[in-house]
Amino acid sequence: MMKTCPQCGARLPSNDSCQQRFDQCMALEYESPAAFGTVHHLTVTCYMLQHNAYARDAWLQARTMLAQFVRDDVTPAEMRQKNRSQLDSGQRAGHINRGAKLTEFDTIRWTSTIADVRFDDCEIYCADVARWALSVLADTEHIT
Ligand SMILES: [Zn+2]
Repeated sequence: MMKTCPQCGARLPSNDSCQQRFDQCMALEYESPAAFGTVHHLTVTCYMLQHNAYARDAWLQARTMLAQFVRDDVTPAEMRQKNRSQLDSGQRAGHINRGAKLTEFDTIRWTSTIADVRFDDCEIYCADVARWALSVLADTEHIT
């Protein structure tokens, strides 16, 4: 039996789920930060965006961050630096989940999901996550 994720549309066996896959990703990434963990910032952002986990403003902000990671090669350390003043004032933490969600979410047709990420080895995993991140950006281009 297969089931479809109501948020990202991933087709997974009924004993599997996006959440379970995400937990597996996190376990791998924390276990080997220098290998699997190098794409941690992409995995988390893609997953949260595809599952509409943030309020609208935070969603748009996260998508912008993803574009900077993928297209402008901004590193997670540089991103932390950039966001430090905001984080320090505690603004972001308070707003990230609160408030209206993205109403256009249902207009997004996801071409790639966490179900496409293979866990075989570090190289395959990181390449799949990078491809997933590019597709998330392409799929959400109409949302501004
Ligand atoms: Zn999903």
